Amino acid sequence: MDAALCLIRDAAGVTMWRRVRLDSSMSEPSFEGTCTCGEIRYRMTDAPLFVHCCHCTWCQRESGAAFALNAMIESARLELLQGEPVLVETPSNSGEGQLIVRCPRCHVALWSHYAGAGKAVAFVRVGTLREPYRLPPDIHIFTSTRQPWIVLSPDIPAVAEYYDRDAYWPATSLARREALLASTRQQG
Ligand SMILES: [Zn+2]
Ligand SMILES: [Zn+2]
Repeated sequence: MDAALCLIRDAAGVTMWRRVRLDSSMSEPSFEGTCTCGEIRYRMTDAPLFVHCCHCTWCQRESGAAFALNAMIESARLELLQGEPVLVETPSNSGEGQLIVRCPRCHVALWSHYAGAGKAVAFVRVGTLREPYRLPPDIHIFTSTRQPWIVLSPDIPAVAEYYDRDAYWPATSLARREALLASTRQQG
């Protein structure tokens, strides 16, 4: 695949040149995913708002691994291509619970809706994408409980617990969030 040098503005507002992979989806990013048995197929029709690598103990337990990698996106930009997922009510760190969207057959978790934004925003499990390498984390959160053997890259912001959205999200994502909030208000 071709690569090109692109001017990238990172979360801290620093502009720098980075080598970026070029492919057919470059102009209109789209990301397809599936469960393990193939019954559910979905597509993110746009780049995510932000990608969390969460090291909290809840994500460790739910994933059975050391962290969860979640791409946050407006549900309106998430298309179900095939299948009827089931929604499983699951406790969450906030105490307000989450809905985990799973395949009815193999039960793999595809994305979650948390209480804060509700069903308007989905937290897509990056590991269920066909090309998960395209969505590295934008931030590491809850690093206070990360497994001691995980070495964090100095290139990616890391915070002990949660973070201030305005300080880390790119302007385009903040604008998309404003638009989402406005449309939610209109719907009453
Ligand atoms: Zn499945
Ligand atoms: Zn977590």
